[in-house]
Amino acid sequence: MIKQTKTLKVRVKDKHQPILNRMAFEVNQIWNAANEETSLWCWIPIPEVGFIRNTISAFDLQKQLKGIRAERDFIIPSHTMQETIAEHARKRKQHKKDKLKWRTSGGSRRSLGWIPFKKGQLKFKNGHCWFAGTYYSVWDSYGLSHYDFRSGSFSQDARGRWSLNIVVEIETQASKGTGQIGIDLGLKTTATCSDGTVLKRQDCYRKSEATLAKAQRARKKKQIKTIHAKIKHQRADAIHKFTHQLVNKNNLIVVGNVSSNALAKTKRAKSVLDAGWSMLKTQLDYKSKGMRSVFVEVNEAYTTQTCSCCGCISHNSPRGRAGLEIREWSCAECGTTHDRDINAAKNILRLGHQTLAGGIPSL
Ligand SMILES: [Zn+2]
Repeated sequence: MIKQTKTLKVRVKDKHQPILNRMAFEVNQIWNAANEETSLWCWIPIPEVGFIRNTISAFDLQKQLKGIRAERDFIIPSHTMQETIAEHARKRKQHKKDKLKWRTSGGSRRSLGWIPFKKGQLKFKNGHCWFAGTYYSVWDSYGLSHYDFRSGSFSQDARGRWSLNIVVEIETQASKGTGQIGIDLGLKTTATCSDGTVLKRQDCYRKSEATLAKAQRARKKKQIKTIHAKIKHQRADAIHKFTHQLVNKNNLIVVGNVSSNALAKTKRAKSVLDAGWSMLKTQLDYKSKGMRSVFVEVNEAYTTQTCSCCGCISHNSPRGRAGLEIREWSCAECGTTHDRDINAAKNILRLGHQTLAGGIPSL
C-alpha cells in the first residue's frame, strides 16, 4: 500500500461563528505583532559601522511574543500561536520580505479568517471535532472518524462561513481501469476525450449566471457573493465527477498543455478558463496518483491540425483562430472525417505514449 496525503474540507456549523471569529481576530493580532517585530528590526544600527541586516527567526519571535496571550487574555492555544508565527516566517522566506501584509479583522478589506493548528490538537470525539476545549459540529461528508488527522486549519470564506481543513493520510488503491485516454481542453467544451466523452461548458450553471447578472444590475452585494459561491461549487462538482470517472476507467491519462493566452481573444474571461482547466489538471494529477495510474501533460502544438488517422497535416485541416469555427473536417490525404476536438484528443494520447516511450513529444 502506498500512502498519500490529502486535505479534507468540511463545513463547520454556523453556531460556532462567534468563537471562531474571536480566535481569528487573535491570530491576526499575533501575525501583526510578528510583522511589527520583523519589519522594525530588519536593520540594526551599529555605531561606526552603519546598519546590518537582521533576519529574525520564527524561534526568536516565539520567545519575544511569548507573553502576548496572557497579556491580552487570548483563548487560542499556544500551538496555534506557534503555527501562526511559523507561517509568517515561511511566507517571509518565500517572498523574500521582512514585512508582509497586515491582517485586518474588520471592515470591507478584512482578511478572511484563518486559525491553524498542529497535529494532535484537533481530534474527532463523539461525532464532533474537539479543538482547544470546545466541540465543533461539522457537516461530516467524509466520515471523519475513519481518518487519522494531521495538521490543519479553520478557514473562512467571503461570506463569513467557516470550514475545517484537515490533512489526512490515506492508503491508495491500484486502478481497476485498463483504458487509456487523451484529453483536449477547449472553449466550446471544457474537455473532450479521445473516446468521445465530453465535459460540457457548464450548462448546469447557466441559470445561476442569469440570476447573477440580475443581482449585479441591482447591486445586491450579499446575493452576488452567494451566487458566486454557488457557481464555484457547481463547477467544482462537475469537474470532480468527470475526473473521478476518468481515473476509474483509465490507467493512462494524457492532457494537452493548453495556454489560455493563445485563446485570450474570446468572450469568456481568461481567468475562468484558467480556473477550470487548472482545477481539472490538478484533480487528474492527484487522483491518478491515488490510483497509481499515469498522468502526463504534453505539448499540444499541431494536435488540432494533424489527422489522427494518417498523421498528415492536410490543407483543409482547421488552423489558427480562423479555424476555430470548423467543428468537423475530412482529411484530404486519407479521407477520414474527424470531429475537431476528438481528433485533437487522439493526437494528445499518441503524444503521451511517445513521451512515456522516452521520445520527444513532437509530431
Ligand atoms: Zn488522414
